[in-house]
Amino acid sequence: MGILDEDVAKVRELTDIVALVSEHVALKRAGRQYAGLCPFHQEKSASFSVNPEMGVYYCFGCQASGDAITFIREIEHLDFVEAVERLAARANITLRYDDRATQRDRSRKDRLSECVAAAIDFYHQRLLTADDAGRARGYLRSRGFDGDAVRRFLLGWAPDDWDELSRHLQKRSFARADIVDAGLAFVNRVNKLQDQFRNRLMFPIHDQRGVAVGFGGRALDDQGPKYKNSPETPLYQKSRLLYGLQWAKAEIVARSEVVICEGYTDVMAFALAGAPNAVATCGTALADDHVRLLKNFARHIVLAYDADAAGQGAAEPWYRWEHEFDLEVRVADLPPGKDPADVFLEDRQALLDALARAAPFLQFRLDRLLAAADRTTLEGRGRAGEAAAAIIAEHPSGLVRDQYVMKLAGELQLSADRLREEVTRIGRPRGDERARRRPSAAGESRPPSSLTGRDVPTAALDAREVDVLRRAVHEPSVVADWIEGSLFANPITREAYECLESAATFHDAVAHAGGPARSLLERLAVEIPEDADEPAVVKARLLANAVEPAAARLLTRLAREGDERWATVKRELDQLVQARASGEWSAAQETALRLLGWVAHDASGVVDREQAGASTNPSET
Ligand SMILES: [Zn+2]
Repeated sequence: MGILDEDVAKVRELTDIVALVSEHVALKRAGRQYAGLCPFHQEKSASFSVNPEMGVYYCFGCQASGDAITFIREIEHLDFVEAVERLAARANITLRYDDRATQRDRSRKDRLSECVAAAIDFYHQRLLTADDAGRARGYLRSRGFDGDAVRRFLLGWAPDDWDELSRHLQKRSFARADIVDAGLAFVNRVNKLQDQFRNRLMFPIHDQRGVAVGFGGRALDDQGPKYKNSPETPLYQKSRLLYGLQWAKAEIVARSEVVICEGYTDVMAFALAGAPNAVATCGTALADDHVRLLKNFARHIVLAYDADAAGQGAAEPWYRWEHEFDLEVRVADLPPGKDPADVFLEDRQALLDALARAAPFLQFRLDRLLAAADRTTLEGRGRAGEAAAAIIAEHPSGLVRDQYVMKLAGELQLSADRLREEVTRIGRPRGDERARRRPSAAGESRPPSSLTGRDVPTAALDAREVDVLRRAVHEPSVVADWIEGSLFANPITREAYECLESAATFHDAVAHAGGPARSLLERLAVEIPEDADEPAVVKARLLANAVEPAAARLLTRLAREGDERWATVKRELDQLVQARASGEWSAAQETALRLLGWVAHDASGVVDREQAGASTNPSET
């Protein structure tokens, strides 16, 4: 099963890698390329470079590298086909598959999404204009959401009817199976289509690309559950969906912060108040997959849950996510018993202030505990200390625990040593368990190194060989008439050279290269050479520098074998070094070309000897 190569190439060609990477990383222009903080490792200075002309990125910190397809694969944890599909959708390219079943599956999903989009439109028009939606419009106004908000968030109204949507969609030539498979209706006992949602305020849900996938429906009276979401369908998979992400993602990246809410109207409230970087889960608790998705956009999470829910919720997953995904989690300072949409109705600025005052998770829990404690008596302070010790003990970092111990001991006028003992006593049983679990969890979150060719000691390469390759990548004309395999003694640089030489495009060269050589080529793509010198000087210097080590290797071998040509090569090499030192570039170039003749001739001789079954690697001789 696969996508036609031709179409993959087209996707690569038509994808703007700078725009793509910018959805996850704030990039700044630096000459002919772009730089930013690497999304694959934690860093404070920008080691991550993107070369838009070659469509390649490379990180000098962690050696992550690749093209647009690799980038989206790693950042969204997709397989190759999913990644190409994702990019094809962005670039409006219809993919062809070499296998019929896959083709059918793709066009099936497209059809279901069209069906959901038609339903969004139906419900939306209904809310804007229909008489029976008057109560819904009134409810929204009472919550502070006007007509503009309704249009911005494409809100809708599902009428109180058995099959109005289904009939509408069938008239629009959607088949019964489309409507059912899209989760919009089901077949009832008399074999008729019955709408999934009725008498509900509708919040359309999209995936992060903006593809319509389903709905959350809110009841305005006491009939049925308050919230009802689309059933799981090929499109709607709640563990991977976050309401509002397609609108919020650019702002999440720009702020490097995402606000996580519990409800759809909370997301709207934040956006309208001036924090359009909020999302909500869709009828499920926040789970690993959600966090894994979000950490690709931002490292800072602010929980805007109702204070009681946040305070009573389990702390363990948050500490684990902080550790595993390198995140920092804080809790917004919302008034107890109020959700963000309530605060929005009273005072929009207060909503932004609650974000600005957000405290680290552990701090938030201790603050709540202390606010409720009786600190006027010795007994009260002792009880508060015991409860606080239990909260502090949950934190996995010993250093963090200790800082809170000292802070709290001061506030409660307790002995820091006694409090520390208490924290240690409570924490001990679970300490071992944490230590066992953490390393493997951290390992799983890292992308496979086989994808990126990481952990390659490219620093050990000869800088002169690398210089020539860099030029071959960016300005092949400078090296084209003299570059040759025997200049490269290291197997990695040699492979990179051979791939470049035998491929029609840079991408083909990369595709044929093995891990280390591929990583090297991708690094070179973001190292654009910049010279103040004349092109002729640049060429002569590169040539002289590249030939020197190869000629020195030849000299060593001739000397060891007692070959009399040794003296000639020695004389040429001395001349080369002298001409270069005194800046006589044309002389340096002539000498270098003569030496290159010797080196190339010798290399072909080595090949002859190898064929005869004699000596092996020229770099060893
Ligand atoms: Zn990196």
